[in-house]
Amino acid sequence: MYNKALEYLGPCGINCQKCFAYSNGSIKNHSENLLKNLGNFDIYAKRFTELLNEPVFNKYSDFKEMLEYFASGNCKGCRKQECHLFKSCNIRNCHKEKSVDFCFQCKEFPCNNTGFDEHLRKRWQSINLRMKEIGPESYYNEIKDNPRY
Ligand code: SF4
Ligand code: SF4
Repeated sequence: MYNKALEYLGPCGINCQKCFAYSNGSIKNHSENLLKNLGNFDIYAKRFTELLNEPVFNKYSDFKEMLEYFASGNCKGCRKQECHLFKSCNIRNCHKEKSVDFCFQCKEFPCNNTGFDEHLRKRWQSINLRMKEIGPESYYNEIKDNPRY
């Protein structure tokens, strides 16, 4: 069986665990941790702009806004809830109709029904060809520490 692959990879094969919106993902967890470690840096960012003569600290509030956004990720993953990023994705319903866990297991693969743009479709195809070659669990182990982006 391929338990980890089923838990973390969507039926398209893309790794939810490395998505910025994933509730227990590394981007969310590192962002939370960084926010915690920065404490009341807002006050210091203002001071450092003048004290250290470093205008980059003027950008701290935008940086913090982005960090807070990343730290708010609350998605449980594609198989537990509907992906709220890829609204045009057809795979989440299609794989159930075809009774497959992953697209490469479908006799229509590679189809034109993904709803993905060209960039994502190419990624989907190469991911699924690799899963077909080595199996979903080995594929998961191969990519689990890689960034998704
Ligand atoms: S289901 Fe969509 S939003 Fe949720 S973690 Fe996976 S890719 Fe990200
Ligand atoms: S028809 Fe296409 S999108 Fe649907 S499960 Fe098969 S390969 Fe995936």
